[in-house]
Amino acid sequence: LVSRKNKAEDTVVNIKGEKVGAGELTHVFGPCSVESYEQVKEVAQAVKKQGGKLLRGGAYKPRTSPYDFQGLGEEGLQILKRVADEEGLAVISEIVNPADIEKAVDYIDVIQIGARNMQNFELLKAAGAVKKPVLLKRGMSATISEFINAAEYIISRGNDQIILCERGIRTYEKATRNTLDISAVPILKQETHLPVLVDVTHSTGRRDLLLPTARAAIAIGADGIMAEVHPDPAVALSDSAQQMDIPTFESFINEINKQQPVKS
Ligand code: PEP
Ligand code: MN
Repeated sequence: LVSRKNKAEDTVVNIKGEKVGAGELTHVFGPCSVESYEQVKEVAQAVKKQGGKLLRGGAYKPRTSPYDFQGLGEEGLQILKRVADEEGLAVISEIVNPADIEKAVDYIDVIQIGARNMQNFELLKAAGAVKKPVLLKRGMSATISEFINAAEYIISRGNDQIILCERGIRTYEKATRNTLDISAVPILKQETHLPVLVDVTHSTGRRDLLLPTARAAIAIGADGIMAEVHPDPAVALSDSAQQMDIPTFESFINEINKQQPVKS
């Protein structure tokens, strides 16, 4: 069902009136983790000031170490909703437990399924059963075909509001956190009718590479960029090395706004 052969025209994902995949670029910015109301509020105001409509923030964090910050859970979702309502933004947050999907739809506008859960089939089915857009990230060791099949799990349950997100894959290369598979973007656009975003933060893990990879992603036909922004990255509870502070974010968005989307 996600195949272009089945449906030639692009799927447009409608997030509270904001359209992803309609030909204009739509970006997603926000902190890695929701840490406090004040932290989310500061980033939300910066995103809004730059004309952004979509705010991200992790409440349930899938951390490699059980001793690292695990996220604020439902309290984090409450903070996101409060800020989103105050600022008129839509919010995206990762859900890791199928049992939390129904509760989450009351708080958030887009359900994110993270790289580590791309083949959590019960989670995919649960996300397919609700009427909420889903942002599905590519698993770090997933082939493009496996990625497309994961999206098929969601659409086959009745939810076609899916955004694919390339976020880098594991290779032998250690200069970057993951290897951004830039050619996945045109392949996904050719093989499916779904919009495709590129997460430059998790694919590179390097602040100095956010702008060049974002430029490449837009040039190759991505529908938008995801990147992490934090008021004070040095003290961030997760991904401190790669989040942008607000002045850096402002120059980043100014630069990428100079680029026109590629027409498919
Ligand atoms: C995230 O976007 O918060 C995240 C954890 O990314 P990924 O699942 O791509 O690692
Ligand atoms: Mn992160």
